[in-house]
Amino acid sequence: MRFLADAMVGRLAKWLRALGYDTLYHRDGDDKALLATAAAEGRVLLTRDTRLPRASLPAGSLLIQSDRVEDQLREVLRAYDLRPAAPGTRCLRCNMPLAPLPREAAAGRVPDFVLTRHAAFRTCPACRRVYWPGTHRTRMAEVLARLCG
Ligand SMILES: [Zn+2]
Repeated sequence: MRFLADAMVGRLAKWLRALGYDTLYHRDGDDKALLATAAAEGRVLLTRDTRLPRASLPAGSLLIQSDRVEDQLREVLRAYDLRPAAPGTRCLRCNMPLAPLPREAAAGRVPDFVLTRHAAFRTCPACRRVYWPGTHRTRMAEVLARLCG
């Protein structure tokens, strides 16, 4: 399942990526372009915009109710009966699938204490950011654990 988040749920987009979901984030407020992208790419539209006419929303779209990101995630997972797909496999910034990165190649690109503590790394082919277990701040890790558990 692929998502398109509008500007009102930008944080939700990042968190869906953290759970492994392909999620585009539509930053600018042009409703026409938003709806066209959702239709053209077959993406489920996630929005909090109650001004969008219900009838104009693509089938399967979800009007997000909560303003807390953890609750928003629960709304999405519940609405589509999803279990978190593949946490930690997608770049939070770019939405690109991450590629495995051998430890040797991670040397110099992560702090030394990280290199000695972890064996498995991944990298984003677009922005070259390096990820490892524990990359995410503690709060995000806790929330992900609750959602995945
Ligand atoms: Zn990236």
